[in-house]
This record gives sequence, C-alpha cells and structure tokens, in this order.
Amino acid sequence: MAYVITQNCCNDAACVAACPVGCIHPTPDEPGFATAEMLYIDPKTCIDCGACADACPVDAIFPEKSLKPEHAAYTELNSEYYAGRTFSPTFPTKAVERLVTSDNALTVAIVGSGPAGMYTAKELLRHPGIRVEMFERLNLPHGLIRYGVAPDHPATKSVVRQFRWSPEKERRFRLNVNTEVGKDVSHDELVDRFNAVIYAHGAFGSRRLDIPGAELENSIGAGEFVGWYNDHPDYRAAPISLSGKRAVIIGNGNVALDMARILLTYPLGDSTISEVEIVARRGPENAAFTTPELLALTHIPGLDVIVDPADLTGSPGDRKMQLLRTIAETVPTPGSRRIILRFNATPTEILGGGHVEGVRTSAGILDANLVIHAVGFHGRAIPGVPFDNERHVIPNIAGRVVDPLTGEPLPAVYTVGWIKRGPSGVIGTNRTCAQETVGSLLADQRAGALATLVRR
Ligand SMILES: Cc1cc2nc3c(=O)[nH]c(=O)nc-3n(C[C@H](O)[C@H](O)[C@H](O)COP(=O)(O)OP(=O)(O)OC[C@H]3O[C@@H](n4cnc5c(N)ncnc54)[C@H](O)[C@@H]3O)c2cc1C
Ligand code: SF4
Ligand code: SF4
Repeated sequence: MAYVITQNCCNDAACVAACPVGCIHPTPDEPGFATAEMLYIDPKTCIDCGACADACPVDAIFPEKSLKPEHAAYTELNSEYYAGRTFSPTFPTKAVERLVTSDNALTVAIVGSGPAGMYTAKELLRHPGIRVEMFERLNLPHGLIRYGVAPDHPATKSVVRQFRWSPEKERRFRLNVNTEVGKDVSHDELVDRFNAVIYAHGAFGSRRLDIPGAELENSIGAGEFVGWYNDHPDYRAAPISLSGKRAVIIGNGNVALDMARILLTYPLGDSTISEVEIVARRGPENAAFTTPELLALTHIPGLDVIVDPADLTGSPGDRKMQLLRTIAETVPTPGSRRIILRFNATPTEILGGGHVEGVRTSAGILDANLVIHAVGFHGRAIPGVPFDNERHVIPNIAGRVVDPLTGEPLPAVYTVGWIKRGPSGVIGTNRTCAQETVGSLLADQRAGALATLVRR
C-alpha cells in the first residue's frame, strides 16, 4: 500500500522535500519538472509514512486505500510514471545558506500579490534581515488563485494557506492593496525607495484570434469570462450573455476545460447553455489539456464528454490518447449536458449579424451563441520597466531584468512568475521560479550589488 498523488496537484514540490525516502518525482532539479502535468509517487519505494500528505497545501495526496472512486485511476497514473525509469537513492547535500541578517538588512518591493509574488515573499522572509513591501492593484491579494482558479476547485484555492506568515514575519511584511505600479506609484519611485524591486504582475490579458467577426457581441476572451465568473473587479460587469444552447471555446488547454465545466455545471444566473464545443486546430496527439483535468471531466454526473472516434486514428499513444479512446467508445446518455472535444478544425470566421451565431471552421460551421477565445494570455508593460513586445514578458536572465538593448542586467530589478516566463505553468511552478529569482537577488546582495541603506 502506498500514497498516491491525485488531480489537485499544483506542482509546488512541497512533498518532495518532506519525503524521507525520495520517492516523489520529477523533483525541481530533474529534467521534465517544468513541463510535468503533476508529480508522482513511486509505490515500490513509498514507506507509507504520510509526511507528503501533511506537507501538501492542496490536499492532493491520499493513502491508496482511502482514494475516492473518481481518483482510482491515479494509482496507475502514479506507478506508470516509474515504468522504465530509475532514480538514484542518494540525495544531493544542501549547501549551507548564508542568511541576510540585521547587519546587512534589505527592504524589497514586490509588485503583484499572485502566487509568484507570494512565493517570493515567503522565500525572502526566511531571512530575518529582509523586509518585504508588496504592491497590488486590486483590493484583494492572491491574483489568479482568487480570480483564475475555478470556483468549484476550493482545494486548489486553499493553497493560499501557505501565505500566512508567523507573527515575526508578519511584522516584516506589508501589503499595499489598491496600488497600481505604473499609475499610483512609479518604477523610479520604487527603485529609489527600495534595495530591490521584483516584478510579479502576471499575464492575465486575453489573446484573441485575429479572424473576421472576432469583435461581434458575445465573442469574448477567456480572461473576461473567467474574470466574470470569479467576480474580478475588471470583469464583473462584462456584457456576457448565456442565453441560447451552445457555446464554442476556441483552444483546448486546461482553462478551456475549466470554462466548459463551469458553463455546464456551475450555477451561472439564468444560463441556458447545455452544450459546449471545444475546438482545436491540431489533432488529439497535440491536445493542450492535461490528463488529470480530462479524467476529472469524465466523473461529473449528468455531463458527457464526446470525442469523434474518427479523430483518433494512428498509434495507441500515451495515457491521454488512451483516455480519449475510452471516451470515444462511451455511449452518451440521452438528455445529458455535453462537452464535445473537436480536433483538426481551424476557426476562420465568427459568424453573426451583431451577435454571435456560429463559427466557420476548416471542418464546417458550428452553431454558437457564445464564443470564447482560449488561445492564451499575455503580460502588460509597466512604464519604465523593460518589456519584450513580442513575447509579452519582462526580458530577464534567471530573474534579473535585463536591458533589451545591451542584454546587461539592470541593477536591483528582478522579475518572477508569468510576467517572467510567459503564461504557462501551474501555481506550484511559481515556487521554483521564485527560488531562482531570490537566488539571483541574494547572490547580487552578497556581491555588494544592492545598496545597503534604504532611503525612506
Ligand atoms: C483561468 C486560469 C485558471 C487557472 N487554474 C489553475 C489551477 O486550477 N491550478 C493551478 O495550479 N494553476 C492554475 N492556473 C495557473 C496559475 O493561476 C498561474 O500559474 C499563476 O497565477 C501565475 O502567478 P503570477 O503571480 O505570475 O500571476 P497572477 O496570479 O496573475 O498575479 C499577478 C498579480 O499582480 C497584480 N498586478 C498586475 N498589474 C499590477 C500593477 N501594475 N501593480 C500592482 N499589481 C499588479 C494582479 O492584480 C495580480 O494580483 C490558472 C490560470 C488561469 C489563467
Ligand atoms: S507516504 Fe512517506 S514515503 Fe510515501 S511518498 Fe509520502 S512521504 Fe514519501
Ligand atoms: S501540490 Fe505540491 S505537495 Fe501536493 S502533491 Fe503536488 S507537488 Fe506535492
């Protein structure tokens, strides 16, 4: 009997450090960690001690014998990861860390209070000589944990429990809400007032397909829809109509699956939508959603997932393809709400006279009363801070912001999270990202590159 990691895993690797026998992989220093759908426990090595379950911030780990029926497949999913893989039983010895103390104190500004900003604050506050001041443009903290993660995933949202500090750390931490950097306070002011400034302001701007009809009423970006159902102050009054039967979502990442599920199972005012078609340009072998998120959809009562078997030609493929085949073979229940996963259909035009009525694709016309563009997100520039206008990120090397013209690091300016890497990776990915940025900052501090006195 072993412990098993299940759907909620957000890859923060807190369990890796807790495990006494090193049987959770991939670890942050192993290849594949950055792109892993989740972490996995090796059932052959697990000694059933439960330390990982205690460390997990989102309650994703359970003893195999207490798995809920909808998590039964995770036993195999965990053990499958170890087929043909071997891991060294030895552990790397940790270098002894030099802490920042009151002798070499620093005050650091963090812009943005999402997971990236919070993991960064957490890393910094481990050093007794570091004070953190955080700036957040909204009136509440936690970024997309509050305003992106779906409301029917409270366990994932509970990750914020990690961002409550001890009273001693609380005294060294200040959060300024309703304070937009670039508007209420400038980059120059921050650079002037703090030993270091870290940009963690995310990338929640919606990308839209540039096709005719994209501007029609009820053709909206994923950010608008997600923000609307999560009561994000920027989007709570967005003009979104859920009358009519069908919605089409363009793009098939996890956010698309989230939105389809919420549309069909969550009480959304007087919504009459009963069918959602998720359309992707490429085939199922390139599907962007992860296996755990697809698996979760198949366990919702009254909801059918439909896949056309004709889309699943070719080799048996990986676990995701096998799951798609099982779905394709399942007979839909009459009268149930439906999510249709459509592949190999490139949208070319959104149709309608004023209001959306359909989507023309390379595979035919799809009826639609609502069209959501789920083709990615982009970051926004803050005046005075370097910005890569093609990748929509802050140019950086290991979190040190660089001058785009010279490629040289700017003194004492850093970045972390989606605005550093681009809009990919789950909540926990920002933890290792924060460790990298804080590592760069501390190395600069040791090299004397940060001013020692704070002018305030
Ligand atoms: C719809 C959606 C659903 C998701 N669901 C999950 C999930 O279920 N599980 C999971 O693990 N991951 C999920 N993710 C991914 C996860 O949310 C991201 O990895 C994470 O939020 C990125 O963190 P961040 O801190 O870089 O950005 P954000 O979370 O966006 O935080 C940035 C913060 O900066 C603030 N800000 C912006 N501009 C300024 C400014 N000028 N001045 C001051 N403050 C500013 C913003 O208001 C925000 O609070 C989801 C993402 C999306 C988009
Ligand atoms: S139960 Fe113990 S041994 Fe097993 S994975 Fe968790 S921490 Fe490691
Ligand atoms: S959320 Fe973190 S602690 Fe929990 S299983 Fe995933 S990596 Fe481990």
